[in-house]
Amino acid sequence: MSLSGFAVDLGGTKTAAARIEGGKVVERRQRATDPGAGMEAQLDALAELLAGLGFEAGAALGVAVAGRVDKDGNWHAVNTGTLRAISAAPLGENLRRRFGAMARPVNDAAAAGLAEARLGAGQGAHNLAYLTVSTGVGGALVLGGRLIDSSNGLAGHVGFSSSRFGDQRCGSGRLGTVESVAGGRAIAAAAGLPDARAVFDSGAHELIIDRSAAAVAALIGDLTAILGLDRVVVGGSIGLAPGYLERVLGHLAGEPELFRPAVVPAELGHDSGLIGALLFATEAAR
Ligand code: ADP
Repeated sequence: MSLSGFAVDLGGTKTAAARIEGGKVVERRQRATDPGAGMEAQLDALAELLAGLGFEAGAALGVAVAGRVDKDGNWHAVNTGTLRAISAAPLGENLRRRFGAMARPVNDAAAAGLAEARLGAGQGAHNLAYLTVSTGVGGALVLGGRLIDSSNGLAGHVGFSSSRFGDQRCGSGRLGTVESVAGGRAIAAAAGLPDARAVFDSGAHELIIDRSAAAVAALIGDLTAILGLDRVVVGGSIGLAPGYLERVLGHLAGEPELFRPAVVPAELGHDSGLIGALLFATEAAR
């Protein structure tokens, strides 16, 4: 794999930057994301991380961000609780101005899904969905080898679809979404604990964790009905938490066979957003 260049993964909690060679992260730097910072301040932080990695303007650079990136490269927070100062920020234009013509923005789950499709657990699948069960529930669709995009940048945000298990609102503002039941924020709120990790560690909230897995299994069945998926790759800290995928598979076993694609864990771990961001920038430049 000849994929080489630089990548950034700007999430709600941390911003990671990496130098990638031969499809692998060879050097990485990270700092906490300032959730209240506007685009320029986020770009300053990113420039510092990249400078430490030896980046020079004009090199291939992919930038994965939490939130929507529309067809004009404008960046919108979807969950305004996460990056509250980001609203229609002209990210694509400013990335090119500051970092050169090869710099491209992309949604973080789309990047991770693209990486899994090309280099990870999704290789060889025809119609693939990537699901990340983390603070929220994100996703990406790679159909016939093509990452599905949309002019408003919302395509692939599968966690905002309705769930029969849901009766709360999630950060998108929609009622009864998969994310409102299955995401880390929802799991923590249901258990009255500070975060989802504490819920898993307590061992005392099996029903809450199981409801999350049931909602993800139903989502897989729904997506399969709509898109004819042959494989689903599951990532995110909750998706990859011990025992979680087994629970999803347990619930999926209750679906008719036609609605049960192969469901496998993500292979690229925390590097998938970085690798996918660079893949996206490289493929877009072709
Ligand atoms: P992000 O949401 O920023 O993409 P992660 O994929 O790491 O990041 O997801 C963070 C969520 O995963 C939080 O809700 C956190 O509590 C939860 N989490 C992190 N580690 C674990 C773990 N080992 N087991 C269960 N939940 C975890």
